Amino acid sequence: MPEYDPFTADASHKPMPMIDPFGRAISYLRVSVTDRCDFRCVYCMAENMTFLPKKEVLSLEELDRLCSAFVEKGVRKLRLTGGEPLVRKNIMSLIRTLGRHLDTGALDELTLTTNGSQLAKYARELADAGVRRINVSCDTLDADKFKAITRWGELDKVIAGIDAAQEAGLHIKINAVALKGVNEHEIEDMVRWAHGRGMDFTLIETMPLGDIEGDRTDQYLPLSVVRAKLLDTFTLEDIPYKTGGPARYVEVKETGGRLGFITPMTHNFCESCNRVRITCTGILYMCLGQDDAADLKTPLRQSEGNDLLYAAIDEAISRKPKGHDFVIDRRTKRPAVSRHMSVTGG
Ligand code: SAM
Ligand code: SF4
Repeated sequence: MPEYDPFTADASHKPMPMIDPFGRAISYLRVSVTDRCDFRCVYCMAENMTFLPKKEVLSLEELDRLCSAFVEKGVRKLRLTGGEPLVRKNIMSLIRTLGRHLDTGALDELTLTTNGSQLAKYARELADAGVRRINVSCDTLDADKFKAITRWGELDKVIAGIDAAQEAGLHIKINAVALKGVNEHEIEDMVRWAHGRGMDFTLIETMPLGDIEGDRTDQYLPLSVVRAKLLDTFTLEDIPYKTGGPARYVEVKETGGRLGFITPMTHNFCESCNRVRITCTGILYMCLGQDDAADLKTPLRQSEGNDLLYAAIDEAISRKPKGHDFVIDRRTKRPAVSRHMSVTGG
């Protein structure tokens, strides 16, 4: 097979845009570039996770080809995630080649969700590749709690990463999973901290994805409860701010910053869903909360041209479900969806 050249590979005919059966145009792709991670967050992974054999994982060239096919089919926003995207070897080469779609105007945004552990090393290169904003996950500002939540992470390194990213001019949104009895009483301080540094702050409810060696119903803290508590100190005003993701935003009058709520368990945000996800093995998930999926690795590897791939994508989009059905079964304490968040990247 001739060597794949990302800079000349997009010249084929223009494929059809992706419109699902409910009239939703798919313009946002999240790509998990690895299932591996240097942390073991308690709500995300078991400590002794088994990762995929390397040969099953798409090469960086294949990931570029796959992402570029989606850009050709109308994706305007691409988010790299994982596992931890920045622990994938040579990840910057993929980010740089994907950056060409920003230069041509085909893509509005290239971004990533990271745990921040490698940001001090990569922040400048990310900015140079055209990345403008990133999401950094950080659930607590207490170093001991941070260690307890992430098992293997160090808060200092993440803070140094955030410093480096801001110095490089990247806009940051902090994502924090709300955890009952863990960071519950720290949320107000975290809002002040994030907003004080000019960062957006978004709270996420725990989602029942994958077995994790623990009891999820213990961790689950409804954001309706958090919001009610925040109202004791803050004035929250609903604002129409949208990032293309599922968060609903308010402005905190006292800080002037934005606070987002992602509430998959208490609020169904599916009606405006414009997103699909691919795993690092080339499986396309049409919905985070459903198991239905399509294999894109086979059509990707079957031919050098993209026609088979486009056909597989079209077939999958025609099956995108109307919405998800997350539940934590209180009797069995089993998750509704058996794959881990680190497979589809959230
Ligand atoms: N490693 C990167 C990180 O932590 O930002 C990217 C991947 S991680 C799976 C993406 C996001 O999903 C993180 O903000 C993480 O906190 C969140 N997450 C992981 N498992 C979750 C769960 N069961 N429920 C809700 N959010 C979860
Ligand atoms: Fe790793 Fe992110 Fe999962 Fe934590 S949430 S274990 S950092 S993938």
